[in-house]
Amino acid sequence: PQAETIFPFDHSYAGLPERFYARLSPTAVTEPQLIRLNDSLARELGLDPAVLKSPAGVEMLAGNRVAEGSTPIAMAYAGHQFGTFVPQLGDGRAILLGEIVAADGARYDIQLKGSGRTPFSRGGDGRAWIGPVLREYIVSEAMHALGLPTTRALSAVKTGDRIMRETLLPGAILTRVAKSHIRVGTFEYFAARRDEEALRALADYAIARHYPHAKDAANPYRAFLDAVVEAQARLVARWMHVGFIHGVMNTDNTSISGETIDYGPCAFMDTYHPGKVFSSIDQMGRYAYANQPRIAYWNLSRLAQAMLPILGKNEEEAVATAQEAIDAFPDIYETAWLEGMRAKLGLSTAREEDRQLAYDLFEAMANAETDFTLTFRALSSLGAGDGTADDALRDLPGQKSALDEWIARWRARLGHESAGEDERKALMRSVNPAFIPRNHRVEEAIAAAMSDDYGPFERLLAVLSDPYSDQPENAEYASPPKPEEVVHRTFCGT
Ligand code: AMP
Ligand code: MG
Ligand code: MG
Repeated sequence: PQAETIFPFDHSYAGLPERFYARLSPTAVTEPQLIRLNDSLARELGLDPAVLKSPAGVEMLAGNRVAEGSTPIAMAYAGHQFGTFVPQLGDGRAILLGEIVAADGARYDIQLKGSGRTPFSRGGDGRAWIGPVLREYIVSEAMHALGLPTTRALSAVKTGDRIMRETLLPGAILTRVAKSHIRVGTFEYFAARRDEEALRALADYAIARHYPHAKDAANPYRAFLDAVVEAQARLVARWMHVGFIHGVMNTDNTSISGETIDYGPCAFMDTYHPGKVFSSIDQMGRYAYANQPRIAYWNLSRLAQAMLPILGKNEEEAVATAQEAIDAFPDIYETAWLEGMRAKLGLSTAREEDRQLAYDLFEAMANAETDFTLTFRALSSLGAGDGTADDALRDLPGQKSALDEWIARWRARLGHESAGEDERKALMRSVNPAFIPRNHRVEEAIAAAMSDDYGPFERLLAVLSDPYSDQPENAEYASPPKPEEVVHRTFCGT
């Protein structure tokens, strides 16, 4: 097949001014070998999986071959990293090959991650090793199956090159699919340069691509900011519902479209603890589980600040407009969080006491040191009239007694519900997963892949593709780690 028919690329971002990106091709690798192609995602994009798996397809997924008419670029952006502003970051190891307009009319970025050095690489080698590539593949696809907005993984390719980290490791490239790669940091990049023309061009582009309704508002940039605030508030609420910790919520990792992006040292919690941190580089706990809503709020304030030059007729008006937009975050977040929590608790109606009931469950879980995922899954099969919590929670590690009092209150609350028990259980099981990408399973898959055994990786992906079903044959994947299997730290290990 001809390269241009493998990926029928369209380019809209590359039509923006030259200072938005650098044009360059990926750097070829020695011996590309396909680890996995996401067939169903390929089909959703209107691509032929067989063609992508052909030698020519794999060469493109490895960056060894660029489609005719393709305009590969590395995007420019800035960002606040752990609170400190860095005026230039950019795609230091990623290249946007182009965009694909899927059958449903939606436009998706196709990006290679780990594809070689770019003008934004600074001291980095532009590469990725197989660990973070498979981690992002597994966790992003799991997030998608759980129903959370996320970038996706189209393929993972082994490069045949060894790259230097703490030690020599096998190199790999992820093909990432995103609604776009525009970040809060992209706006900050132009704001830092006092480039108002670029800010307008970027905002207009983002509106047209993500929030077309904003164009017709009295103040389109305000409406755009409102839309991003809402998308991020809803996204982080969803993270909280499943016990997901992003790990590096820098503004360059905060997407304008509201997708989870840039999976680094991210992790799902096993045992619940509000202060849980996995990332080895997050020593202050800035990005701990319970801090995530606050950090999203802070990141959005950085977006509003970057947009000040285009938000009002004068500075005073712009500041007031930015403030109003940002002030909406807490309510939107709290409402989205509570709505999701009601579903997790099997409540179809709303009552005043629900918020406190939900808070108190988390407190009881923290005291009891129960597994986040299994607690909600176990509650989902607990009948209103059953004896004690022990029936459903018997096999959970931790001190169950702390939950007993809470369960009595929850049952009293269920008394105000009109839905039947089966209906309630079905609702709960549709939002409380049995399977999450547990760290020890992710690590196990990576360890096996290091010796070219992709069986555990494939099996884990299969289990995680259907997280709300019981899958009795895969019950061990629902279990928390044994004490010796617990993963305490995840590494950026780019
Ligand atoms: P991250 O922490 O992965 O979100 O990346 C932060 C910044 O560092 C981005 O500008 C990346 O492109 C850059 N970066 C991370 N790893 C590498 C690498 N191995 N080579 C070059 N740039 C990198
Ligand atoms: Mg340029
Ligand atoms: Mg990043």
